[in-house]
Order: sequence, then structure tokens, then C-alpha cells
Amino acid sequence: MATNMKQRKHKYIFVIGGVMSGVGKGVTTASIAMLLQAKGFKVNPIKVDPYLNVDAGTMNPTEHGEVFVLNSGLECDQDMGNYERFLNLNLGNDDYITSGMVYRHVIDKERALGYKGKCVEALPHIPNEILRRIDRAVETSGSDVSVIEVGGTVGDYQNIMFLEAARRLWLTHRNDVIFILVSYLPVPGTIGEMKTKPTQNAVRLLNSYGIQQDFIIARGPVPLDEKRKEKLAIWCNTEAERVISAPDIESIYDVPLNFEKDNISSLILSSLNLKSRVRRDGFEKWKKFVSRTKNAKEELSIAVIGKYFDTGDFMLSDAYLSVIEAVKHAAAKLGKKAVLSWLNAKDYDHKSEDGLGKKEGSDISSLKQYDGIIVPGGFGEAGIEGKIKVIQFVRENKIPYFGLCYGMQLAVIEYARNVAGLLGAHTTEINKEALHKVIDIMPEQKKHMEEGKYGATMRLGAYEARVKDGTIARKAYGKEIIYERHRHRYEVNPEYIGHLEKVGMIFSATSPNGVLMEIAELPRKIHPFFLGTQFHPEFQSRPLVPHPLFTEFLKSASARRNKNK
Ligand code: GLN
Repeated sequence: MATNMKQRKHKYIFVIGGVMSGVGKGVTTASIAMLLQAKGFKVNPIKVDPYLNVDAGTMNPTEHGEVFVLNSGLECDQDMGNYERFLNLNLGNDDYITSGMVYRHVIDKERALGYKGKCVEALPHIPNEILRRIDRAVETSGSDVSVIEVGGTVGDYQNIMFLEAARRLWLTHRNDVIFILVSYLPVPGTIGEMKTKPTQNAVRLLNSYGIQQDFIIARGPVPLDEKRKEKLAIWCNTEAERVISAPDIESIYDVPLNFEKDNISSLILSSLNLKSRVRRDGFEKWKKFVSRTKNAKEELSIAVIGKYFDTGDFMLSDAYLSVIEAVKHAAAKLGKKAVLSWLNAKDYDHKSEDGLGKKEGSDISSLKQYDGIIVPGGFGEAGIEGKIKVIQFVRENKIPYFGLCYGMQLAVIEYARNVAGLLGAHTTEINKEALHKVIDIMPEQKKHMEEGKYGATMRLGAYEARVKDGTIARKAYGKEIIYERHRHRYEVNPEYIGHLEKVGMIFSATSPNGVLMEIAELPRKIHPFFLGTQFHPEFQSRPLVPHPLFTEFLKSASARRNKNK
């Protein structure tokens, strides 16, 4: 029950979405958390996701965007990445809650007679378990304020239990809980005017759950005008000053600064009876970073060769969110503006069929127009041969190449086939009978597969690695011992390492016992930048602390651009 919540001076801010998904609840949550952090509070963001998957690990990224991985190895929603980036914090397992985790716990507890003979029901046992988890997150983080993002939109069937938990918490802690509704105000082309009705309806729905929002974040294509602000204030029962204008803007990192134009942080603090703990806001460095991003003149054109882009007739880049952000952070550090292009790997495999027979793919030589190419993480067969062709092309044409996880494994396969002469080299993920299994499954992973245990069983989370002296990687990191986040089942097969090294490939980082290959690269005299990581460096890049490998990659992209001028 809500009354079980520990009696401590803690404040809770629930962020709830109205009208439609995709309006930026995650960035809003991250921005509010960051502003309160800048006011001297210890803040822990929490994401609650309504789906029944226990974690995000088994979901195809085209379903729900990128699967983000924490240091602990928990596979979670991409919003967790936004929180880590905005707050420059490493989050823990308790900061992520799904319906799957909640229901699983309740059912397991029931089986263990944990409810002592009671009838176990969705109400109140599910909200109780949600509140227990929120309480645990507060305790482990030792925070003053929690900003809790409720996944989904008001009116969804799936998130009702989370809203009910929030309402109950408010019932027992009225002075310590506030609600922020992130809504959308469309400007239909045929009308040419910003419309408030969908937001009014979202508020009515929210009210029907017993929740009255304290703030409205008015998302829309343009700023909110005074007239509509007043209208929302009257019809939605929220003071006009607490209706915050949130128009589309170029950089997500500008969102907190934009909110501050409407004094959001002081208004939130006063509604929670809190006073700023600092004399000056702590985000000077953030402001400088944002202005560097906005004012950068020189562009770097970077292509990402992926496959998780298509959704119906639309293209989305959400599956690669952390990669995109990591490129932006490194570009800002170098004073450049990264312009990203999305290329579908399938288009580079000329053998691909489209149901009508052979399909003409894209012209691979057009890749010369880019300053750098990234092949990010991925699973399965689709687009594989296209990616390998791209890698061969960029290697032979000395275009800077950065491979992330699958992008590293495929670079090793390409090198084995075309340089080491190992025709038939492949990963056993695609061909179990490959003549040369240069990328192979780990024995314990094989067991998981045989037992059908797919969830949370990959090599996940932060592992230590040692970086070898005299390599590009070592120069970038400037140190020997690194910790990087992983998410994969396959590894470079140790049997082929000697052969690959003999023909020029350098394994510049390995696990501490030297068995697992963590980074593969080619020496500078052969290629300006050809490097792949078995881990995902993108998960640890932060706006104010860009990842050194992304920075090194962009430096060489920039050198290529200057040479070609
Ligand atoms: N599919 C590969 C593996 O499981 C790579 C995974 C990834 O790119 N994250 O090892």
C-alpha cells in the first residue's frame, strides 16, 4: 500500500503523457531531473514501462526503439540512456520497472504463500508492488527527488496500474507528489491554428483516474501563445504560469534551457515546498555544450549502415539512439556538426531479391561522399552481406570506419575472407556449418540457446578490458584499463587470432585474461581509422564527457574531409 512507503522527506514527480506517444516524455523527464540536479538536489529518474516483457532485451528495436544496457547488464528502455546522458549518472537496476517484473514478482510471491492465503488481485496487489519497487529505487539511490516517467499515454489500458499506484502515493503524501502532463498541441495544416482540444480531452481522461496534473508541458511544432495558454489554464484546471511552452527545437539538449525560460524549476520547487540549494545554477558547462552544438559551422557527414529503420512507410532512427547521440557529443567536442545519413544495409547486397527477382542495389561507390561510416550493433542475417561489402569498400578506399559489436564482428569476417584468404569465413550466428567459424558462440551461450533461455542471458553489462600500448585505441583512451558495456552472444574465435594478426589485424584490447577480443583495428599506416569494438561504447558517451573512440573516429573523418576539400 502507499501507506507502506517509508516515511522520509522525499519528493515524487510523475511525468505522464497525453494525446499521443512520441512527444518527448523521456527528454522532458531527463530535463526536469537535470534542472533539479542543477539546483543542488540528488535526483533519481525512474522509468516504468507498461509492457509484459520482463526487460527490453527480447524486443526487436523496431518495436520499441533502442535496447539500452546499464553497467549492471540490465537491458532497458532507451529513455534510460537519455537520463544517464542528461544527468551524467550511472543508473541502477531499481530505476527501471516493467509490468513484466511486477507481475512476475506478485505471482512468484503468491506461489510461495507470500500473501498468506489471501485472494491475490490486480488491485491492490499490483500497485502495491509498483510502489514497493519505487520505494526501493529511492532507497538505493539515496535521492531527495524521484522523477518517474510513466510509459504509454493516458487512456492506454496497459498503464492504468501505474497511474493507480501514483494516485495512491499522492493520497498519502499530498505535499510530496506532483504530476506533470506532457501533451501535444497540433497545428493542422488545413486549419493553420494550434488546437487545444486533444489536450483538454487528455486531461479529462487523467481526471477520471483521480489525477489532476500540476503542470502541463505543451509540446507542439511552435511555441504556445498567450491566448492558448489562458485557454488551457481555464479548461484544464492548471494555473497559466504552470503551462510550459515546449516547441520543437533543433537539439534535445536545449530542452532544459528552453523550459527554464518559463521558470519551470523554481515553479516545481515551490510546488514541492523546496528551496534551491545552490546560489548559482550548476549548468554553465551544459550551456556551453549546447551553444557549441548550435554554432558549429563545419559539417561532418557520417553514414550509419543499419537495418532497424523501417516502420510501415516511415523510417525511424530510434534503434540507434545512443550511437547518434555519441556522434553528436564527440562532434561538439571538436567544434563540428555531425550530419547523419541512414543507409539500409540490404541495398548494398546486389544479390538481394525483392520478390520480383533480382533487385538493383545502391551504388557502393557513392559511399565515397561520406567522411566516415559506422556499422552499429545488430542480430541475424538480414543485410549481413551488404554490410560486409560496405566494410570491404571502406577498408579498400580508406574511408574512416567504426564498427560497433556486430560491426566489429563483420569487419573481422570481411578481413578473414578478403585479406587472410579464408573463403567461407563467417559467424556461426548465421552459418553453423561455416568452413571458418571466425566468429563463434561461447560454450555457456550455446547452453542457454539449447535450453531456449534467451532473456537476459547474453554477455551483458560492464566488463574490464586491457588496451595494448602503441595502438589507436590506447592513444584514444590514454590508459590501459577500461570498462565497457556489452550485449552479445558471439566472440572472435581464439583459433583464428594468430592467422588474422599475421596478415595485419591488431586486437588492441582484450579481456584481462587475454581470451576475449574486445577491439580490432588496422594500423594507421594501412588505414587512417579502421576500428571495431566488441562492446558498445555509445552507451557510455555523455554530452560533457564524449567517448574517446567516437572522438578519435570523428577526428579522422574530419581529416578526410579537409583532404578532399
Ligand atoms: N549478433 C551479435 C552477437 O550476438 C552482435 C550483437 C550486437 O551487435 N549487439 O554477438
